[in-house]
Amino acid sequence: MTKVMTDKINDQINAEMYSAYLYLSMAGYLASKNLNGAAGWMKMQAKEEMEHAMKFYHFIEDMGERVTLKEIQAPPAEWNSLLALMENVYAHEQKVTKLIHSLVDQARADNDHASFEMLQWFVKEQVEEELHARDLRDKIKLAGDSVNALFIIDGIMGKRAQG
Ligand code: MG
Repeated sequence: MTKVMTDKINDQINAEMYSAYLYLSMAGYLASKNLNGAAGWMKMQAKEEMEHAMKFYHFIEDMGERVTLKEIQAPPAEWNSLLALMENVYAHEQKVTKLIHSLVDQARADNDHASFEMLQWFVKEQVEEELHARDLRDKIKLAGDSVNALFIIDGIMGKRAQG
């Protein structure tokens, strides 16, 4: 694996850990607003992001390269509304998709078939991540100022945490 690719995957470990931090921060904010279903959803999301980080971590090890970790940036702690928060989730996942695609471009440039193959899982995963974020964002937008609708959405999000 090239040095550039190893560096980029190490950076991706950091990006995935930041994603986990961001979603845990969102969980804390949502719990403080008594939206415990949505908070549970964010905790599950954070757990998945840590699993993504570990997939990249183990891949570097499997390739006989060196894992190097950097400082994880502090995430925001406050949002203006559940809608603003979910817009942030969607925008963040779109950013992560760009990072994954840039890794694929690097694998192509390096003729690195092993990295290319490993990354295909993440390409598909990002389609799902964007779909789920967009779907929830649109539902929250539809709910508007309806407290009833908001509680229904919180309930839907809470179901993920249960199973
Ligand atoms: Mg991820």
